[in-house]
Amino acid sequence: MTRNISLESVLESGLCTGCGACQSMFPAKVRVALNDEGYLRPQLSQPLDRREREQFARTCPGAGLEHIKPEAAYDPLWGPLMATRTGYSLDEGVRYEGSSGGVLSALLVYLLESKKVDFVAHIKADPDDPIGNVMSVSRNRAEVLRGAGSRYAPSAPLAQLEALLALGGRFAFVGKPCDVAGLRQYARSRPELAERIPYMLSFMCAGIPSRKGAIAILKKLEVEPAEVASFSFRGNGWPGMSTAVTHAGRRAEMDYATSWGTILNRHLQFRCKICPDGVGEFADVVGADAWYGKDGYPDFAERAGRSLVLSRTATGEKLVGEAVAAGYIAVEALAREEIAKMQPYQENRKKMVLSRLLALRLTGRTTPRYRRLQLLRLALGGGLRENLRNFVGMARRTWF
Ligand SMILES: Cc1cc2nc3c(=O)[nH]c(=O)nc-3n(C[C@H](O)[C@H](O)[C@H](O)COP(=O)(O)OP(=O)(O)OC[C@H]3O[C@@H](n4cnc5c(N)ncnc54)[C@H](O)[C@@H]3O)c2cc1C
Repeated sequence: MTRNISLESVLESGLCTGCGACQSMFPAKVRVALNDEGYLRPQLSQPLDRREREQFARTCPGAGLEHIKPEAAYDPLWGPLMATRTGYSLDEGVRYEGSSGGVLSALLVYLLESKKVDFVAHIKADPDDPIGNVMSVSRNRAEVLRGAGSRYAPSAPLAQLEALLALGGRFAFVGKPCDVAGLRQYARSRPELAERIPYMLSFMCAGIPSRKGAIAILKKLEVEPAEVASFSFRGNGWPGMSTAVTHAGRRAEMDYATSWGTILNRHLQFRCKICPDGVGEFADVVGADAWYGKDGYPDFAERAGRSLVLSRTATGEKLVGEAVAAGYIAVEALAREEIAKMQPYQENRKKMVLSRLLALRLTGRTTPRYRRLQLLRLALGGGLRENLRNFVGMARRTWF
């Protein structure tokens, strides 16, 4: 039975991920725009009717996430897994410009050049607002590369879904884990979406920073937002520098450990702190950072890029195999136990989600409904002390 949760309560309870699905579902009533806190949020001009509310509750990834018969065996920490690998693009330009090993961009180029899709729909820097993001269409390698690199700022890839469908043909979609989960959940009540969007790719995500994060980077770089001609958060190396170039041609840079580790991670939206899916469990293929490091912690030293590549569906596994055979990417098998060393944050957050949710429930807050994500099992294995610490931290945050 569909849960009775409204768009208004998702917004008020801080559960909105900012994916934009509600704008595509109810274009006459919902517009997604930046709010004062620098996050993309729906603005409702008229109340949704009963059928629309039901559609909303079934689809919105902020309201809930649920797996229905994943194709691959489910790993409690890492989701449905057909295969785990590391890899990189064999095109040096793609590898360099990509965020990690450029595997996502390489797969997109392969899909276009092998004519498996007519276009790719993904996020790029907004030409009118270089620290912002826009959903874009790419039809060749050069256009795909303009979208390479992580953009640690709000994006609402699903807000443009109807416009993308109106272009005709089949396309590959790239989005954050919550965007892909929203798309998958929408496709359950609108099956033609799966036919029109045969490839859904994602990446691991520690959370979406507010636009204020990018502005804080600029401040530290002593660049005024109005001066910025282009801005990249990462890419051009691994992890690559945050780079602002001004209209006057001045270039200012900051390393990843400083930009992510001391600025952006302080601006994450609330929903990301109770996210059980930072690893793209609903995607066909996920790309992430295959960090090297010591003592279980990534060191973020500059190196040639290397991606973690998880295939989750038969479609995703076939795509990876074909891209290898066609010479677009190189991959190496990776033991599943190695993932936690590369992604300790993702491991810890999923284990602690249940304690955080419990604290919210006890304060009477609306919480998302997460099903078949094995959160209880993970919490039980997470240790009493850590669970308590997370429970108290969240309780403090909401009670006081
Ligand atoms: C907010 C955020 C948080 C992240 N957190 C983690 C993490 O915790 N662990 C980890 O391993 N990796 C994280 N990443 C992903 C990582 O930085 C790389 O994107 C991933 O390793 C894939 O690298 P690649 O070289 O294959 O991708 P690329 O070839 O560089 O392709 C990246 C693709 O992602 C799309 N994209 C970039 N920014 C956004 C955005 N804001 N919204 C939607 N789509 C976007 C681009 O359009 C492009 O198609 C995060 C990325 C983002 C944007």
